[in-house]
Amino acid sequence: FLPQVVKSARVMKQAVGHLIPFIELEKGDKPEAKGKILMATVKGDVHDIGKNIVGVVLGCNGYDIVDLGVMVPAEKILQTAIAEKCDIIGLSGLITPSLDEMVHVAREMQRQGFHLPLMIGGATTSKAHTAVKIEPKYQNDAVIYVTDASRAVGVATQLLSKELKADFVERTRLDYIEVRERTANRSARTERLSYAKSVENKPKFDWANYQPSVPSFTGVKVLDNIDLNVLAEYIDWTPFFISWDLAGKFPRILTDEVVGEAATALYADAQEMLKKLIDEKLISARAVFGFWPANQVNDDDLDIYADNGEKLATLHHLRQQTIKPDGKPNFSLADFVAPKDSGITDYVGGFITTAGIGAEEVAKAYQEAGDDYNSIMVKALADRLAEACAEWLHKEVRTTYWGYEPDEALSNEELIKEAYKGIRPAPGYPACPDHTEKKALFELLDPAAEFNKAGASGVFLTEHYAMFPAAAVSGWYFAHPQAQYFAVGKIDKDQVASYTARKKQDLNVSERWLAPNLGYDN
Ligand code: SAH
Repeated sequence: FLPQVVKSARVMKQAVGHLIPFIELEKGDKPEAKGKILMATVKGDVHDIGKNIVGVVLGCNGYDIVDLGVMVPAEKILQTAIAEKCDIIGLSGLITPSLDEMVHVAREMQRQGFHLPLMIGGATTSKAHTAVKIEPKYQNDAVIYVTDASRAVGVATQLLSKELKADFVERTRLDYIEVRERTANRSARTERLSYAKSVENKPKFDWANYQPSVPSFTGVKVLDNIDLNVLAEYIDWTPFFISWDLAGKFPRILTDEVVGEAATALYADAQEMLKKLIDEKLISARAVFGFWPANQVNDDDLDIYADNGEKLATLHHLRQQTIKPDGKPNFSLADFVAPKDSGITDYVGGFITTAGIGAEEVAKAYQEAGDDYNSIMVKALADRLAEACAEWLHKEVRTTYWGYEPDEALSNEELIKEAYKGIRPAPGYPACPDHTEKKALFELLDPAAEFNKAGASGVFLTEHYAMFPAAAVSGWYFAHPQAQYFAVGKIDKDQVASYTARKKQDLNVSERWLAPNLGYDN
């Protein structure tokens, strides 16, 4: 189990650190590494828990790791691979724009005549994406999708073995050809509604008799130094175990036959670190949130207004185009706000929460002390606290700040199951997969923020719309009683054309980023 591996790697690293001066004194030879592997989270992406675990696992299996960290541009990856004479390049990423960035790196490797294997990993990556989008761009050597950290050693061993490589690469190549054929057949078969027809099939709400709840304030509020002890009670622990590659629902996972023991030990360490982070005030949590008058326009856009009616922003949404079983509507988030021609003043809210203030520094200090286990632990806990902060704030919004559910009394489990009224969809997630919409959200909530420079929220957007620090969550609030989470899914060219045209009026985003964000296959 990975937590055990990473934890014991700490002992090994510190022991080696202790021994090296003596070895050098005796002029003994350091054992030769099995190979040098470059690891990087690609440009525009800030997530590195998975990459760091892979690095540690490979390191304690005798590989030299050149870790370039996060937000690494293609040129730097390729220059370093040459300068450091690396044997493999490993790319990682979590957000969808990173998928396209990986394609870009592969294309550059081909163009510049590289002859090194490329390993692909990270939460949004997949065998299908690797086979369909990345591998065809780089033919000089192998492109291998690594399912999870525990597979990395097996893959690296085969790629660097004279005896095993040819067979392994050939098998993977054939496998990917099959994946490409299957994918092509599947997308040829699926029929979708035209964009116009999907709009016709939107959910119909009785706006004439609709009375929107009025938030307790409009504009923006900042909450700083939110009590971490309170937030800790809102943590959803299941994803914490997933970040360590332990599968199973919390709290059952603690007594699971297979992973129970490892999960229990990990959980105990997590509790101890959480207490330390809180007691010693090593990290802090902040939230910026707000509400504005809003109306739905052009079917799938939302106009956001100041109190005096001046338009502040236009948000753009996407509509499901899948053919639904009868009676089921094709959703867009814009459906949950009263249309402009209804004459009703409705509202939309937005939020940015982070528990990452200080976290990157604490994690770095651990890493520099050779303690990857606690470095990764801090990041994983900060992520959890940021989500917990979003959960806590959403409850405060429902009961107080927007106040449309003053008497709500849901248990923690019910909150995790999203049993509340209203939703907080996050740009980049299935109901609003376009990450670039975070720009409008940040402009509304934190106008002082710039790309790569935080404002009042303590969070900024990277060039590919990831949030930094990584322990941050942002999204919209919708209060409509029938508002629900859904997945936009695959959409067609007609909607892409409409969306791009609408969006271009308000935001200068290159189309290169639009298509992959939309899950649209071009
Ligand atoms: N309790 C979990 C929440 C995971 S989902 C955790 O602690 O990790 C994370 C966030 O994604 C949710 O809070 C919500 O803001 C957003 N979300 C979930 N489903 C969504 C969907 N279909 N579309 C858009 N956003 C979604």
